[in-house]
Amino acid sequence: MNLLFLGPPGSGKDTQAELLAAGGDFVVVSTGQVMRDGIVAGSELALQAKSFMDEGKWVPDEIVYKLLAEHVKSLGDKSIIFTGAVRRATQIPLLEDSLDAVGKSLDKVLYFDLPDAEVMNRLSNRWFCPHDKTIYNTYFKSRSPKVAGVCDKCGNQLVQRDDDKPEVVQQRLAEVRQFDADILSAYEAKGLLVHVDATPSVEDIAVKVRELLGL
Ligand SMILES: [Zn+2]
Repeated sequence: MNLLFLGPPGSGKDTQAELLAAGGDFVVVSTGQVMRDGIVAGSELALQAKSFMDEGKWVPDEIVYKLLAEHVKSLGDKSIIFTGAVRRATQIPLLEDSLDAVGKSLDKVLYFDLPDAEVMNRLSNRWFCPHDKTIYNTYFKSRSPKVAGVCDKCGNQLVQRDDDKPEVVQQRLAEVRQFDADILSAYEAKGLLVHVDATPSVEDIAVKVRELLGL
């Protein structure tokens, strides 16, 4: 069984993929990881990808999906959860073709639903300590510092990354939603799409996911 996990940032899709893989039934394949691993292994395609990344450019889809196909082939008969493999509707046929080339296809696409307000709460309350890099999240009581704005470990003032500032999160989310709408309707039309409510606890979502997949 091959799956694609989708969802807005903060929806916990990567955590759910890791949890499912920890049970031994699946391997997680993330496009970014495939490129990094390929670079370490020194494959020719990966080195081409690296030359784009070194210049701060996006790696062309043609290279990304060839690398992905190479990697998927190396996994043999293992069941796969893809994450980060489709960010634009135009990439849907590219993923399909690269799977097809190695005799595989997607069985289900799980979309982890999270309302905008909840995405904002989860992502725009992240703070970190510039000294020891400890990350806090004031939206969650268990991940808040004991004293507001101060690192538990070293007493330094906490700061917020530009990427985690509310206006930046808002803008990123608006872009993601726009692309997701096209991706979701395409997978809906193919009869592959399954919605998963991403608001409950990590443990409750994991139970639900296994149930949805009949595991
Ligand atoms: Zn600190």
